[in-house]
Amino acid sequence: MAIRVIEEKCKGCALCEKNCPFDAIQVKGQKAVIGMGCTECGNCIENCPFDAIEKTSPEKKAADVSAYRGVWVFAEQRDNEIQSVVFELLGEGRKLADELETELCAVLCGCGIREQAEELIACGADKVYVADHEILKHYRTESYSRVIFEAIERYKPEVVLLGATHIGRDLGPCLAVKAGTGLTADCTKLEIDRENRRLQQTRPAFGGNLMATIICPSHRPQMSTVRPGVMQKSVRDGGRTGALIDLPITFTEDEIPTKILDIIKSVGEKVSLTDAKIIVAGGMGLGSAEGFKLLKELADRLGGVVASSRACVDAGWIAPSYQVGQTGTTVKPAVYIACGISGAIQHLAGMQNSDYIIAINKNENAPIFEVADYGIVGDLYRVIPELMEALG
Ligand SMILES: Cc1cc2nc3c(=O)[nH]c(=O)nc-3n(C[C@H](O)[C@H](O)[C@H](O)COP(=O)(O)OP(=O)(O)OC[C@H]3O[C@@H](n4cnc5c(N)ncnc54)[C@H](O)[C@@H]3O)c2cc1C
Ligand code: SF4
Ligand code: SF4
Repeated sequence: MAIRVIEEKCKGCALCEKNCPFDAIQVKGQKAVIGMGCTECGNCIENCPFDAIEKTSPEKKAADVSAYRGVWVFAEQRDNEIQSVVFELLGEGRKLADELETELCAVLCGCGIREQAEELIACGADKVYVADHEILKHYRTESYSRVIFEAIERYKPEVVLLGATHIGRDLGPCLAVKAGTGLTADCTKLEIDRENRRLQQTRPAFGGNLMATIICPSHRPQMSTVRPGVMQKSVRDGGRTGALIDLPITFTEDEIPTKILDIIKSVGEKVSLTDAKIIVAGGMGLGSAEGFKLLKELADRLGGVVASSRACVDAGWIAPSYQVGQTGTTVKPAVYIACGISGAIQHLAGMQNSDYIIAINKNENAPIFEVADYGIVGDLYRVIPELMEALG
């Protein structure tokens, strides 16, 4: 039990009994007693007027960091298709592994997925740890975290990278807690401090207003979830060879509390912003949802796709899947045309690495011009038709 009542201090006032959101505390014989339902939320500690409750978990001892080697990438798959962020992680992981003079490994879990391991090797992995079993057919926190945690304990990787997808954001923290180590979420830059083999994990913080570089000095593995669309994909080389290592399944279906009853695919529009070469994005400067029709016309002419700022999504002009930015998708197209977008930092966070940025805005002081390679100051409803005319 990590939450303890200090009996000498407890006055039996029962305030904690009322405050516990999990009904896990009861006053018996004028003393509070903490029961099995305690989730260690800490609410009672803060609320006891007599400081009679404390957390007793011992300080975690630092790990022997020298016992850990290897960079691991979680090879997320859905319907047995490796997700594109995995190739970005392999590209980045290869660089980190080379700097650390260690091996790059992928961890592949699923059912009937062995053949995908070859693809991971072709894309940079030296080794692939494969857990291929019916129980892993669909992602579930308990089954995936158990098999991967057991592998972490056994093979002791130095770095573990996961895509900051819905699955990666669920699995990463669960693994980090099991392993008693640090995790930095949603990283946009990773570097190695060669002197002490530390991973410097940089991520936007405070709404993107500051970049925080975070290290995990005394626990291993060093874990990060990495924002999709930011890192360079690895270069495929069909001639590469590597090793396959099977991971054992040490549990049964009965031990996994989560049961998947049905999987319902979204019926909404699907947009693949991350793969688009040309993006024509619209902001509040469009004036109304109708404006996206004009952008679609331009995008169709250029063989591109339409995207949006968050403000238009919030206004209900377009579906959330079109949103570019810190809380939307990160994109890196060859050409990004920003039409009527002011260039708030949260929007820039999702598109400033585009090869070429063209901004159309009627306000010459709009911050979007600071990142634009080409800027047109003017009303987009005049500029875009002229652009299309010029395209012929
Ligand atoms: C935590 C947090 C997360 C966020 N995440 C995101 C995110 O992921 N993505 C995102 O986009 N935003 C995000 N935002 C919101 C962001 O701060 C801005 O509010 C938003 O990007 C503004 O959208 P906009 O540029 O379309 O609108 P505005 O800022 O209103 O800009 C409209 C622009 O259009 C120009 N304009 C007006 N009429 C015309 C015309 N006829 N022709 C040409 N130009 C014209 C104006 O000069 C102006 O520059 C987030 C905010 C917070 C706090
Ligand atoms: S709030 Fe504090 S003093 Fe009151 S019963 Fe709970 S532990 Fe005891
Ligand atoms: S730590 Fe939270 S769950 Fe546990 S007894 Fe206190 S209030 Fe209840």
